[in-house]
Amino acid sequence: MGIRNRLSLQGFRQLARRLRLLSGLRVQYRRVDGRELDDAWADVDKLGDGEDVRFVVRIASTVDQPGVTYLLIHETAHAITWDIEEKHGEQHSPEFWITYGRLYDALIERSGLPKTRFSRSELPPVTGE
Ligand SMILES: [Zn+2]
Repeated sequence: MGIRNRLSLQGFRQLARRLRLLSGLRVQYRRVDGRELDDAWADVDKLGDGEDVRFVVRIASTVDQPGVTYLLIHETAHAITWDIEEKHGEQHSPEFWITYGRLYDALIERSGLPKTRFSRSELPPVTGE
């Protein structure tokens, strides 16, 4: 997959800063080589405990601009709902999607950022690069 419409480093940092503020958590956002992520586009991990809890969100550097926005919202929602989902042994629970919607609303609906429109045929393949 070529890197069309790649988000600039400045744009990436700005998005990361806004999501970090919205989350109220210590979250580090990193763009990494896709091979570090096995077959995923992005992931999140919780590090440390107690006062020292922090999250690291990693995203494949090949993901294009709209993809970065949605994937970072997704992984940030996982960080926010981490403890709830761990307790229930569930991923993508109702709490996750409510949180996702709130982040989406705060970041995109109220920001005046352009929404991306594309047809299904323009979607990248689900697996592989
Ligand atoms: Zn997920």
